[in-house]
Amino acid sequence: CPLGPALLFVKTSQGKEKGRRFYACSACRDRKDCNFFQWEDEKVSETRLAAREEYNRNHQPRFTHRQNVERYKNFVRLPLPKRRFCQECQQLLLPAEWEKHLDHQFLCDISTAQLKCPSQLLYPLENKKTNAQYLFAGRSCQFLVDLITDLGFQRVLSVGTPRLHEMIQLKASQEEDFRVRSLLLDIDFRYSQFYTEDEFCHYNMFNHYFFGGEAARETCRKFLSQDNGERVIMVTDPPFGGLVEALASSFKKLMAMREETEKEGYNNQEMPMFWIFPYFFESRILEFFPTFTMMDYQVDYDNHALYKHGKTGRRQSPVRIFTNLTPSMIVLPVEEGYRFCAVCQRYVSSGNQHCEICDSCTSKDGRQWKHCVLCNKCVKPSWFHCNNCNCCALPDHTCERTEAGCFVCGKAGHKRVTCPSLSRT
Ligand code: SAH
Ligand code: ZN
Ligand code: ZN
Ligand code: ZN
Ligand code: ZN
Repeated sequence: CPLGPALLFVKTSQGKEKGRRFYACSACRDRKDCNFFQWEDEKVSETRLAAREEYNRNHQPRFTHRQNVERYKNFVRLPLPKRRFCQECQQLLLPAEWEKHLDHQFLCDISTAQLKCPSQLLYPLENKKTNAQYLFAGRSCQFLVDLITDLGFQRVLSVGTPRLHEMIQLKASQEEDFRVRSLLLDIDFRYSQFYTEDEFCHYNMFNHYFFGGEAARETCRKFLSQDNGERVIMVTDPPFGGLVEALASSFKKLMAMREETEKEGYNNQEMPMFWIFPYFFESRILEFFPTFTMMDYQVDYDNHALYKHGKTGRRQSPVRIFTNLTPSMIVLPVEEGYRFCAVCQRYVSSGNQHCEICDSCTSKDGRQWKHCVLCNKCVKPSWFHCNNCNCCALPDHTCERTEAGCFVCGKAGHKRVTCPSLSRT
């Protein structure tokens, strides 16, 4: 499809063991955004293949990245009053193009400072099912940049983190002793208007697809290869609706790209990584990256009403940082209430009490959890032990015994989302 190789899915129906397999778009979970569909065993005629290729060609961006770089060069040569940005087309306009955009809303006098902050100029693509573009709040972005520099990294592979990339680029251009570089990998092609081919690759993180082909892949490979002892970290903040399995597979390929380039046994360590994702995906992430630990730090967003910092009176953000770095190295801001637990050897949120029985700081959501002796683990403060279900749950839950079986496999005792047969496929 236009977004690169499709992924193989399986359609299961209730009670049936085996489902039929099909290919669908890797990135769009809404058929309205991309309707690519093909049964695994389906024969595709030459005519249909040709039609598909033509469709894919027609659904590529109007300008290539190279053309956009050229356009940018021309744009910055213009005097301020001639610098327009079309809000409807999300495009920098050259004077010859004004005419075509006269009935569109546009911004005038685009300053160099504005060009350096494209994430402020472009509107966030909030379409939940595809882009889910939620931009870091300044506080969280600053925290990440400080953390990365304090840890001594000089290169950041920013995968789906345009605002982090932007802050790094901005600091590098303003502060002489700030020597961190960033390469942005994102599916949002609008960014190609502001960054060169060495700063941005049009990339799909669900199928590890570089839209710019071999040249773009080589840019990324080069960026990851360590010379002059520079250390590199990958930071990613994927759409939360995304398939963890597909993401993990791509991230492993990115990690392997670095390893390929390493000189004989010079460094066999896994590439350091921050994977920013909600805490309730912890077990899924650990399934694919067993060396990862979840940090207590709550990542906040600008355009997400629900995911803002607790202290501003809103709900607390469920988004965390998962990392393969040693947890004790990740210093969380004490002024925001985080403290160091000497037993766990990591920073935890203020409400996270160390449980003597579990021998760890057990809270996942920042609130103080309580230990249940029957479950033999700590649970959310609002939960109670239900003798019927033989586990802790909300007081007003419907007991699982009386409920119909799982939608996927038909068995009782779990719901569709936790179905063991799903994680196998
Ligand atoms: N908090 C980050 C943005 C995260 S939102 C920041 O402020 O920098 C998710 C990002 O992933 C968006 O930039 C979106 O364009 C990108 N994205 C969504 N789907 C993607 C895909 N399939 N491949 C690559 N990037 C994707
Ligand atoms: Zn698609
Ligand atoms: Zn502890
Ligand atoms: Zn406990
Ligand atoms: Zn119950």
